[in-house]
Amino acid sequence: MDQITITLPDGSKRSYDRGVTGAQIAESISKGLAREALAVAVNGDTRDLARPIQNDAAVRILTWKDDEGRRAYWHSSAHLMAEAIESLFPGAKFGIGPAIDIGFYYDLDLGDHSITQDDLARIEARMVELAQRDSPYRRDEQGWDQAVAYFTRKGDQYKLDLLEGLKGQPISLYHSGEFTDLCAGPHIPSTGRIKAIKLLNVAGAYWRGNEKNKMLQRIYGVTFPTQKELDDHLHRLEEAKRRDHRKLGAELELFLLTPIVGGGLPIWLPKGTIIRESLETFLREEQRKRGYLPVVTPHIGNLNLYKKSGHYPYYKDSQFAPIQVEDEQYLLKPMNCPHHHQVYLAKPRSYRDLPVRLAEFGTVYRYEQSGELNGLTRVRCFTQDDSHLYVRQDQLKDELCGVIDLIQLVFGTLGFKDFKTRLSFRDPGNTEKYGGADEQWVQAERDIKEAADAMKLDYKIAIGEAAFYGPKIDFMVQDALGRTWQLGTVQVDYVMPERFELEYTGSDGQKHRPVIIHRAPFGSLERFIGILIEHYAGEFPLWLAPVHAVVLPITDAQSAYARDVRAALLAAGLRAEIDERNEKIGYKIREWETKKVPYMLVVGEKEKQGNTVAVRRHKEGDKGAVAQEDFIRMLREKVDTKSLTL
Ligand SMILES: [Zn+2]
Ligand SMILES: [Zn+2]
Repeated sequence: MDQITITLPDGSKRSYDRGVTGAQIAESISKGLAREALAVAVNGDTRDLARPIQNDAAVRILTWKDDEGRRAYWHSSAHLMAEAIESLFPGAKFGIGPAIDIGFYYDLDLGDHSITQDDLARIEARMVELAQRDSPYRRDEQGWDQAVAYFTRKGDQYKLDLLEGLKGQPISLYHSGEFTDLCAGPHIPSTGRIKAIKLLNVAGAYWRGNEKNKMLQRIYGVTFPTQKELDDHLHRLEEAKRRDHRKLGAELELFLLTPIVGGGLPIWLPKGTIIRESLETFLREEQRKRGYLPVVTPHIGNLNLYKKSGHYPYYKDSQFAPIQVEDEQYLLKPMNCPHHHQVYLAKPRSYRDLPVRLAEFGTVYRYEQSGELNGLTRVRCFTQDDSHLYVRQDQLKDELCGVIDLIQLVFGTLGFKDFKTRLSFRDPGNTEKYGGADEQWVQAERDIKEAADAMKLDYKIAIGEAAFYGPKIDFMVQDALGRTWQLGTVQVDYVMPERFELEYTGSDGQKHRPVIIHRAPFGSLERFIGILIEHYAGEFPLWLAPVHAVVLPITDAQSAYARDVRAALLAAGLRAEIDERNEKIGYKIREWETKKVPYMLVVGEKEKQGNTVAVRRHKEGDKGAVAQEDFIRMLREKVDTKSLTL
C-alpha cells in the first residue's frame, strides 16, 4: 500500500495510507481529539477534516482552542445562518459571509424587506433547528462554467460578481442541508457542532465596500459549542457596553467630542484634565528621577524637516496636507522625533554626555478618515508621552533595561497586572529592506533579548516584524474584561542618526553615531485614558479620581461646618466638592453614587459637635464616623502611595 509520512506538532512522525483524511488522523491519535476536531492545518493551510491528504505533510488537528478552528466554526455558522435565511426568505441573495475576530456576519439582499428584531429571533430559532439536523458540510469542486450556471439559475448577482474575479480557476462550492455557497472553505464537519447561537444586530454595508454599489444588510452573529460559553460572551458584551469610554466620558464629564470643534479632536473637560495631569505628573516625576530632560517643541514644523526624516512623503496619507506660509510649506507635527533631534544637534556632544534622554508630552496630528474615528481610541490629535534616548552602542542594553523598568512601573501602578511583550526582529532572509549595518542589528537584537531576559519579561519573538530602522519591543496589556491592548513601544533606531547626521566625539577623539531609542509607555494619552476608563469602568483609583470626596451637609445648620471640612481637604491638597443643595440627604447620596466619587462625607449635627465626618465609600456605603483629621490623613496617604483600593 502507498504510504505518506505525517509529522505531528510534537515532532513525531507517523505513516498513513496516501489520501488519509484529517478526521482519520485525529481518530488514530485519540477518540477525544476526534470528537473535538473542527478542521486540520496541513503545512499551515487550514482545510476540511474530510479532505484527503496526498503527500507527506506537517499536520495539526484544529479544535476550538485554535484561532483557525474557531474561524472555521464561525464561518460555518455564517453558512448555517444563510440556510436559515433562505428557508425563511426565499429568493434572498447573498454577498459575503466571513468569520470575524469573535463571531461572523453575512451580507444579504432581501429586496425591499428590512430585517427586524423579530426576524432575527426567527432566523435564530431556525438555525437551532437546522443545526440539530447535523448536516455535513460537503465540498464540491466544479468547473467555472458550472458554478456560473448554478448561480445564474439561482439569480444571485453577487455570487456571479464574485465569480467574475475567479474566471478560469477551479471553483469550490459547499453544500450543507439545503444551502449551497460559493466558498473556498474550510468548514467544520457538520452543523451539529454548533450548539449555542445568538444573532446580535443588523447594519448596512455597501456591496464590496463601495458606496456606489447597493447597500446590503449585514447580520452579525456569534455561536459557541456550549450555552455557558455563549452566556459568558454575552455578559462580557454587556459589560463592555456599560464600560464604553464614550458613554462614561460624557456621563462623568471627562471629555467632549463635538462636530463644532471637528471630528477626532477631543476637548478635555476639567475632570478629564485632572486624570490626564495626574498621569503626566506621575510620569514626569519618574522621568526626572531617571535623568530625563524635559523639552517643549512646536506643533508645526517646516516640511523640509519631515522630508529629511522621511515622514514626508512616505506617511503622507496619514498626515494633514501641508500649510503654505509665505514661500514655505509647513506640516502639522505628525511625530516629535525630528524636533528632538534638533535639540541633540544644538550643541556638540561627547561620549561623556551620553545618554541624553529628552522627554516631552508632545501633541501630534494624524489624518484619519471620518469613518475610522472612534471616541478617544482613534483621534486626529493626540499627545504622546514621547521620549528619545541618544545612547552609545555600549549603553544600549542598560538603557533598554531602564526603559523596560519604567514601563513595568507604569503598568503596575495603574493596575495592569497581566502584560505580554513582543520582540520584533528583522527577517534574516531579507536583510536589504532594513536600514543600518548588519553588525548593528545583530548586536541590537542581542541587547534587546538580554534586556528582556534580565527584566524577566514574558515575551515572544516575532521575526520579520521589525521597523525598517530597527528592532522594537511592544507591550500588550490585558484589561479587566480580558481584552488585549497594545500600549507602550520601545524602538531602536539606526537610520535617523544617519539621516540627521547625529554625532558625538568618542574617547578616541573620533566622531561616532549615537543610537536612538524611541519610547512611549502610555503611547497616546488619549487612547490610554480611553482604555483606563473602560478598565476601571469609571471607578478610578484615588490618585486619579477627579474628585476624592464630596461633603454633604444634612441641613443648612451644618453648612458652615461642611465648608470648613471641604476647606481642610483642599488645604491638604485633596480634591473635594460640597453639595449644599436643599435636597434630602438620601437623594444627594444616590446622585453622587452615580458620579462614582470615591468618598461621601455626610455631616449632621452630631458630626458638627464632634468635629467628625460620617464616611460613605463608593459602592460599599456607610463606614461610620471618623475624626476629620484622621480621615484627611488616611486619604492623603492613599493618594500619595497611589493605592489601587479605596
Ligand atoms: Zn464557506
Ligand atoms: Zn520618535
